[in-house]
Amino acid sequence: MPPTTAHPDADRERLGLHADCESCFGLCCVALAFTRSADFPIDKDAGEPCRNLRPDHSCGIHPELRERGFVGCTVYDCFGAGQKISRSTFAGQDWREHPEVRSSMFALLPVLRHVHELLWYLTEAQALTLGHDVSLAAELTQAVERIDLLSTGSADELLALDLGALRDGVNPLLVRASEAARARSVHQPRGRRADRRGADLVGRRLAGADLRGASLRGALLVGADLRGADLRSADLVGADLRGADLSGADLTDALFVTQVQVDAARGDATTRLPAGLTRPAHWGAPPVARSRARRA
Ligand code: SF4
Repeated sequence: MPPTTAHPDADRERLGLHADCESCFGLCCVALAFTRSADFPIDKDAGEPCRNLRPDHSCGIHPELRERGFVGCTVYDCFGAGQKISRSTFAGQDWREHPEVRSSMFALLPVLRHVHELLWYLTEAQALTLGHDVSLAAELTQAVERIDLLSTGSADELLALDLGALRDGVNPLLVRASEAARARSVHQPRGRRADRRGADLVGRRLAGADLRGASLRGALLVGADLRGADLRSADLVGADLRGADLSGADLTDALFVTQVQVDAARGDATTRLPAGLTRPAHWGAPPVARSRARRA
């Protein structure tokens, strides 16, 4: 059987983990710093509004971000932190009208984004575990409820969070869910599965590699040649896929893959993606552009 029997989108919707730019005060376009690079054509300090941010918090160049060199904007996802900070934590106080909230509001974005990202992974672990391990499912549910409650705290409470401890508490649950799912997977190869956790595979030639069921947690795959690689049921949590070539690769049932990872990679019409992810428009493949950058 495939490793997952449910898709976590409903839970993510309930927890507010999908970015809703229209409910956000453009926080990612102000709070974060840019460095002139392949991802951004300009330098920008943290707390300085991007020159393309309109007064209504929309992006003035949204349809042409890649063409204008703002690639970094197309591969950023706040996991719903932006609208929660804008509408809930700060109760709708716009930083333009309330300069007194600016510094803590902007400082909070990376913190709450991290918290929401953990929730995102936990919802996937829940889906992987559903119907297989009652005990782990209960632990995951408790973790989701606890962290979701934390995410509703005040700005001061959130800024005081020990993110490292939070992550260290979640990781063992994700590893258990991943190992069990990969062990059950029909894609798992005979014998030992590759363990490349945190491996430095930057620019590595891995074309056609058999990476079925491999652990690539936190692996650095920047610019790697993964053309035609078999990544079915591989664990890709936190793997850096920027510029990696996934043309013809098979990521069916790959675990913990986010849209941002896919958007940051290269690929083509023959790349097979996990359910729920969208083929990026810049891969030159059939329809659906789904940039996570701010709306026009
Ligand atoms: S999405 Fe648009 S407004 Fe926001 S940072 Fe990028 S270019 Fe600037």
